[in-house]
Amino acid sequence: MDTVLDRFLRYVRYDTQSNESSSTFPSTETQLVLLRDLAAELRSLGLADASVDQHGYVMATIPATTAKPSVPAIGFVAHVDTSPEMPGANVAPIVHRHYDGRDLVLPDDPSAVLRLAEIPDLAGAIGHDIVTASGTTLLGADDKAGVAEIVTAAAHLIAHPEIRHGRVRIAFTPDEEIGRGTKHFDVARFGAACAYTLDGGSRGEIEVESFSADAMTLTFHGFNTHPGYAKGRMINAIKIASAFVDRLPANRLCPETTDGYDGFVHPYIVHAGVERTSVKLIVRDFVTSGLQEKEAMLEGLAQEVVADWPGARLEIAVEEQYRNMREVLDRQPEIAEHARAAIRRAGLEPRSRPIRGGTDGSRLSFMGLPTPNLFAGEHNFHSRLEWVSVQDMEKAVEVIVNLCQVWEEQT
Ligand SMILES: [Zn+2]
Repeated sequence: MDTVLDRFLRYVRYDTQSNESSSTFPSTETQLVLLRDLAAELRSLGLADASVDQHGYVMATIPATTAKPSVPAIGFVAHVDTSPEMPGANVAPIVHRHYDGRDLVLPDDPSAVLRLAEIPDLAGAIGHDIVTASGTTLLGADDKAGVAEIVTAAAHLIAHPEIRHGRVRIAFTPDEEIGRGTKHFDVARFGAACAYTLDGGSRGEIEVESFSADAMTLTFHGFNTHPGYAKGRMINAIKIASAFVDRLPANRLCPETTDGYDGFVHPYIVHAGVERTSVKLIVRDFVTSGLQEKEAMLEGLAQEVVADWPGARLEIAVEEQYRNMREVLDRQPEIAEHARAAIRRAGLEPRSRPIRGGTDGSRLSFMGLPTPNLFAGEHNFHSRLEWVSVQDMEKAVEVIVNLCQVWEEQT
């Protein structure tokens, strides 16, 4: 029978990079190759209903083994795509057995070196078997570690019908890395009371809170005319927008000056012209009302600036991106508590920290499927120094199996 490592080494060889500029769904055809093969693998393991829907989502069921009719269905979710930020084709994984703290030099680019001094998490992996890529690509542990763990746990549960659990649902999704992973996720068809994404870092981690996130576009309208004859008439929107950006807080509320539970406002794109200049910002906070405060602050600054330019005009658009999953998960504390119990049962201490970003679980939680994130063992996401510990992946498999049992016992 395949181990979690066998599966992981097989999946990372598929090129499944997603593409933000594509308008198809999934964004790349190549993701479908792995998704179809995963459905076939699940069927061969005995998950008879495993299938790929018209959008590429794989869903499958491990039938209940419990006699208790009230045990709720729970789900496990992982994404197959890899980040567009780093090459993901021709990944050549390397297993470094019994890591002892030495430098791991990646052969295809000797400047790619994993050093214990620079990567503190490596200290927790001494004695483990570590998998890396070969130096020129990412590894794809994000999130093929999660995929391999879920398939391996499914194989274990199917092979051990004496383990009591309720109905277990599995989903593999495309396009998470470009923020579209839940776009066509059919929560009703998935039919679970809650789910867990396996897409986190160090062993023992459970993530139950993420940012709340909005995107805000401030468009400054000026007036353009021939610059040779513009006296008293031209209003240069580039100058107005520049004055606005200049007034943004410099030492606080910035990505580069905050961490932990502090939010920020972050201008990241400017489309500039004399007639019209728009500034795109992302707004982040762990408390959703904190988003509105920051947006009001930005609007106030922009209005002050525009008032200095008679004839100029301001236009504002705010788009909701995602919300802190904690708002949903706090209403059903057993979802996280059962996960912590499953982590302890695997001999690990559960640890939580706020995610300074969003996950598919943040969106799924607000679509009616409460979904915290569990560790998968991923480290150095989206980097050619990405790595995963085999022993951490084995622990994640154990946690999935335990979690199915905990839900059965506690119901
Ligand atoms: Zn991921």
